[in-house]
Amino acid sequence: MADRKRHVILGSGPAGMAAIETIREIDGGASQITLVSAEEPYARMVLPYWVAGEIPEAQVAIGDAASLERLGVTGVFGKRAAALEPTERRLILDDGTTLPYDELLIATGSRAVKPPIEGLERPGVTCLWTREDARTAIERLGDDAKGKKASLLGAGFIGFIILNALHKLGLELTVIEREDQVLPRMLDAQGAAIVEQWLTDRGVTIHTGMSLAKVGDGPDGRVAADDLVEADLLVVATGIAANTEWLKSSGIELSADGGILVDARLRSSVPGVSAAGDCACGPDVLGFQRAVHPIQPTAVEHGRLAGTNMAGRDAVYHGSLLTNVLDVCGLHCVSTGLWRGEGDLETVAVADAARSSYRKLVFDGDRLVGTILTGRADDTTMLNDVGMAKGLIETRAALGKWKDHLAAQPHDLRRVYLASGVGAVLARRRSTGAPARARGFRHGGLTPAPAAANRGAGHDAIVSTRPSPYEGATPVVGLGKGKSG
Ligand SMILES: Cc1cc2nc3c(=O)[nH]c(=O)nc-3n(C[C@H](O)[C@H](O)[C@H](O)COP(=O)(O)OP(=O)(O)OC[C@H]3O[C@@H](n4cnc5c(N)ncnc54)[C@H](O)[C@@H]3O)c2cc1C
Repeated sequence: MADRKRHVILGSGPAGMAAIETIREIDGGASQITLVSAEEPYARMVLPYWVAGEIPEAQVAIGDAASLERLGVTGVFGKRAAALEPTERRLILDDGTTLPYDELLIATGSRAVKPPIEGLERPGVTCLWTREDARTAIERLGDDAKGKKASLLGAGFIGFIILNALHKLGLELTVIEREDQVLPRMLDAQGAAIVEQWLTDRGVTIHTGMSLAKVGDGPDGRVAADDLVEADLLVVATGIAANTEWLKSSGIELSADGGILVDARLRSSVPGVSAAGDCACGPDVLGFQRAVHPIQPTAVEHGRLAGTNMAGRDAVYHGSLLTNVLDVCGLHCVSTGLWRGEGDLETVAVADAARSSYRKLVFDGDRLVGTILTGRADDTTMLNDVGMAKGLIETRAALGKWKDHLAAQPHDLRRVYLASGVGAVLARRRSTGAPARARGFRHGGLTPAPAAANRGAGHDAIVSTRPSPYEGATPVVGLGKGKSG
C-alpha cells in the first residue's frame, strides 16, 4: 500500500459525493482521494426544478472545483471507467489511463433506456436523465413554453416527476403508458384510478395500454407519432439500467438486473471494491433478498455507509426501503415497502374520492410493512404521515394492540407512531457510528441558519388532537389476506 491510502471514487452523483464527504469527515484528509466521473457532480433529482424554471442551473451542482479542493480531492471528469483488474487493484479508463487503488467505490448510477421504437433519435425527442437532456428540453421549449405541447412516453415514477415540471410550465400534456394503469410499479389499480382522474380533471390526456409504433415529423417541426402524439417535445421515460456493463469480465458478481451484489458493509464480491447507489444491489430493510433501489435516499445512505467503512470504521447497513414520493400536479402519491400486499400479508384500505384520498396499509403480523397514500399536496396531515409510515416500516416496529387500532383508523398514524416509540429509535440510529453534524463542504463552509420553529396552521394540524377529517372514510378493502387492487 502507498504511504497514504489511495481511495478511488467512481461516479460523482449523490452516492459518490456522500462517500467522499464521509471519508473526509472521518479521516480529516489523511487519505488520497481521486474522483473519476463521466460527468461533473450534480443531482439528477433536481433537474425537474431547473426545467420548470424554479431554480437556476447552478443549483443543480453538488460539488465544484472549490469544494473538491477543500476536501483534498483530485477530480478527473469526462472520462469513463472501461475495465477493472481487481487482482492488481487497477481501474482502466476509456482513454487507456491506468489508475491504481487500495479501495475503490463504484457509484456509477444508472442510465435511461429507450424502447426499440423507430424515430426516438430525432430532434424534439429526449429522455430527461442527464443535465444535457434537461438542457435539450429547456432549449426545445424556449422562453415561452406556456401553451406548447409535450408528450410523455412512460407513466412511471421518473416520468411523472417530469410531468409535474412540465405542468408547472403550462404545457398541454399527453401521457402514453404501455400498461393498463399509470404508475404500475408504484400504485395499485385503485390508487392509479385516483391519479388518472386527478390528471384528467387538470386537462392531461392519458392513454394507457398503448405504445408508439414509430415517431416521425409533424407540422411546424413538431414530433408526431401514430394518432397519439403531435408535440413540441416528446420525453421518453420508459426505464433505467445500472451502469455496470463495463464490469462484465471483472469477476464482480452482478444481480440479474445488473446491480453489483454487495453485503451489509456494501462490499462487492472482490476485495477492495465497494458499490453504492443506483448501481448497487444491497440489503433491503424488510429482510428480503438484496435489491436495487434506485432512489436518492438509498444513494446517500449507501454512500455514507461505504465511505465510513473505506475510512476504516466498521459500519453495518440496516438496509434500504424503497419509497417513492411524488407530487403529481398537486396530488401527493406515495408508496413504500410491500405496498402490493401479496401472499400472507394483510391489507386494509380506505378511500375518499371527493378528497382524492386513498390509503392502503399492509401488515405482516403486527408490523406495518407497506403503504400507499394519496392526498392533496396542501394536506399537511397526509405529508407528515408519509414520514411516520416510513419510520414505522423501516424500524420494523411491533405495534401490538396498536395494529388493530391502525387497521380500524388508517388515518391515525400519528398516535401509533408516538405510542411505538419509533422516533426515539430513529434518533439513536448512527449509520457512521457517530452523530451526523453539519459538514459544510459543499457551500463554502456556510452552516445553514437553524430552522425557525413553525407554529403556523400546518403545525397546529399536526399536534391537534381533533379527530381526523377522514375518520369514518369508506373502507374499500377490509382487513384481509393477500388482497391487492
Ligand atoms: C429527473 C429525475 C428525477 C428524480 N427524482 C427523484 C426523486 O424525486 N426522489 C428520488 O429519491 N430519486 C429521484 N431520482 C433518482 C435519483 O436521482 C437517483 O436515484 C440518484 O441520482 C442515484 O445516485 P447515484 O449517485 O447512485 O447515481 P447517479 O446520480 O446516476 O450518478 C452516477 C455518476 O456516475 C457517472 N458514471 C456513470 N458511468 C460511468 C463510468 N463508466 N465511468 C465514470 N463515471 C461514470 C455519471 O456520470 C454520474 O456522475 C430522479 C432521477 C431523475 C433522472
